[in-house]
Amino acid sequence: MSYLAKNYNRKKISFKFGKGSYLFSTDKKKYLDFVQGIAVNSLGHSHPKLIKTIKIQSKKLWHVSNAFQIPEGEKLAEKLCKKTFADFVMFQNSGAEATEAAVKVARRYFYSIGKPKKNRILCVKNSFHGRTLAAIFASGSKKMTEGFGPKIPGFDHFRFGNHDSLKKKINKNTAAIMVETVMGEGGIKVIPDWCLRELRQLCNKKKILLILDEVQCGVARSGDFFAFEKSKVKPDIVPIAKGIGGGFPIGAVLMNKKVASGMIAGSHGSTFGGNPLAMTVGNTVMDIVSKKSFLNNIKKLSKYFLEKLNNIKSKHPDIIKEIRGRGLLIGIQLHNNPTLFIKKLMDHRLLTIRAAENVIRILPPLNVKKKEIDIAVKIISKVCKDLK
Ligand SMILES: *Cc1c(COP(=O)(O)O)cnc(C)c1O
Repeated sequence: MSYLAKNYNRKKISFKFGKGSYLFSTDKKKYLDFVQGIAVNSLGHSHPKLIKTIKIQSKKLWHVSNAFQIPEGEKLAEKLCKKTFADFVMFQNSGAEATEAAVKVARRYFYSIGKPKKNRILCVKNSFHGRTLAAIFASGSKKMTEGFGPKIPGFDHFRFGNHDSLKKKINKNTAAIMVETVMGEGGIKVIPDWCLRELRQLCNKKKILLILDEVQCGVARSGDFFAFEKSKVKPDIVPIAKGIGGGFPIGAVLMNKKVASGMIAGSHGSTFGGNPLAMTVGNTVMDIVSKKSFLNNIKKLSKYFLEKLNNIKSKHPDIIKEIRGRGLLIGIQLHNNPTLFIKKLMDHRLLTIRAAENVIRILPPLNVKKKEIDIAVKIISKVCKDLK
């Protein structure tokens, strides 16, 4: 009997401890963990520097109210701004909170310049921005919103890749376009760089804001600190979360000076957001993952991994439809439902997680070793042969 609500479909396995890329189950089996809490544990399990950071800070100060200065947060915000397009940062605790706060920043900006009716957010149909009420209606997914009405107004939708529909849906009340740079839950669908550039141009022309949700693909996951960087596009607002805490819940909204001007004192807040314990962990993660050599290594590993996976695909075109992704956010799209494939991977001690469109998501820690990728490749190849 479990007293936990049944809102998750949990696999019958639990873990006792983790180390690097590996998880050790309570029934004493060793698993290669290529889920990492869904792109959360960017440095794998039990990273010595994170353990040290938490040990030291936990003896000093956990939490104070945002009514006071928090130097650890000042430090992390400065690092985030110096590495990116952003001028200001607002800390939250999760991805959904960060995407909602991003919407608030966009609306507050137009309100502050005397255009309060410019408040609609244009999103991709069946995208994923989190599970709070506003976020599920932003995602526009029937499955996620079912039973949670009344509908939260203020969100319009277009289909991924349908540029005509996107242009048609922009009206005088549109405040922002909000898209995931790489759709995670939606099946590891990458918005091409040229497309991001057109999006930016379109937003400039229509004088609306561009919000890029990098909660999953951001914070080095793509091989660049942000997945949009390669396109040279500068968004106005970027929510982040998952990877920045390395397993500690942290969310944040990054924004440029223009939109930040609307966020005057008292306009937004979060009790837990940006507390000293969280911020100290965030600083340690940031120092490691934002290093050029660290990012270059992700690119190298990604290229190697994608090559190996494409080799497997060419041997099993009847099973694998496409290999896609960026950095260490990788999707193996099957022709059929991936449930059995994922189960077989798990039987061979490789943990992965599904996404929409028959995609198996592969999310190793960002400091994964090449030989661990080799092990995963072997297992994936073996499962393909098994399924013949
Ligand atoms: C996971 C995710 C969220 C929501 O994050 P939570 O921490 O679960 O609230 C929002 N946007 C994207 C792109 C995500 O992948």
